Amino acid sequence: MIYLDNAATTSPKPEIVIKEVNNALRKYSANPGRGGHTPSIQAARAVYQTRMLAKELFHAAAQENVIFTSGCTQSLNTVIKGVLKPGDHVVISSMEHNAVVRPLYRLKQKGLIDYSTADVIIGDDDATLNAFRKAINAKTRMIICTHASNVFGTRLPVERICALAHSYGILFCLDAAQSAGFLDIDIAENGYDFVCCPGHKGLYGPTGIGLLLIHSNQLLDTLTEGGTGSDSVNPVMPDYYPDRLESGTLNIPGICGLGAGIRFIDRYGIEKLRRHEYRLMKMLYQGLQSVKNIRLYTDEPDILHSVPVISFNIDEVESEKVAAYLNNKGIAVRAGLHCAPSAHRMMGTLDSGTVRIAPSVFTNEKDIQILMIALKKFSYFS
Ligand code: PMP
Repeated sequence: MIYLDNAATTSPKPEIVIKEVNNALRKYSANPGRGGHTPSIQAARAVYQTRMLAKELFHAAAQENVIFTSGCTQSLNTVIKGVLKPGDHVVISSMEHNAVVRPLYRLKQKGLIDYSTADVIIGDDDATLNAFRKAINAKTRMIICTHASNVFGTRLPVERICALAHSYGILFCLDAAQSAGFLDIDIAENGYDFVCCPGHKGLYGPTGIGLLLIHSNQLLDTLTEGGTGSDSVNPVMPDYYPDRLESGTLNIPGICGLGAGIRFIDRYGIEKLRRHEYRLMKMLYQGLQSVKNIRLYTDEPDILHSVPVISFNIDEVESEKVAAYLNNKGIAVRAGLHCAPSAHRMMGTLDSGTVRIAPSVFTNEKDIQILMIALKKFSYFS
């Protein structure tokens, strides 16, 4: 199977990730920080190593600022529900994923908060910034913004949006689901208060692991409460990180696998990885121009404006039909709304959805050529 759904989760996983998950299950099936025995200490050491790798990758201030979660959805929920108080207002972009929209909508439904959506104007960062500025009001407590659209690959001017938020004394939360491990994210330099990311996409870890990086000195309210192995006599959750936000037994195989994933991209070189994926997506983009009745919703991929994600449709054909055809030809792509309906509303693709292609470090030219041949055949007979 040619797997081109890497914006959902990367596949295959690097061999060292598979080995490390296996190794963790064999060697670290003990509860870190809960016992003085050797297996517990070894497990704690393994967790610490991944925490340090994540700290360095994102330039976090300290390893305590790195929180392990089950994925980007949990990271975002932790920030949203941990920061917001009744009466607060939030600004989000029109490209946000349901992992942002649904928790906000739920809080709004309960009458607790309100939020506004700033339209992303593709190709005009000044206009996008202006839309954010206009959406801010006296009650705005936080801006949440995706680094890049998971549907169209469009990069948002998040450094400028973060600076805008801070100029109003507003917190900024970055959804790095499509950029972590691919674009440089420097928390120290950019001052993002919160960075939420999956461990299973560009960081090449297994599914079921994610990260929340905290830069703000804000003490988040807890999403879940439970045992931390620290301050156990106290019925209140610790007021220090990471313990405050990591109750219950940690996902040690996931954490170890994530550590191996970060080591993998470090060794491969993020710059080299970027060049590889952009080259393939440019090749695909140029090839797609010659497909009959193609409707491309993404500009030619380039580092300043996009991540390597291409969305398209063929004529009036439902995106699911194209994906099903490709699946029969041994090519895995994603169709539909990609959990980001407002991005589609903006693009006019809410009814049809789009076919989405996203490569990984393991995608090669031949994969793209086979995809092109299949699409040409499909469009010829449709
Ligand atoms: N935000 C964006 C932009 C995403 O693309 C995704 C995953 N599709 C998420 C959040 C949620 O990530 P996870 O699956 O790790 O919970």
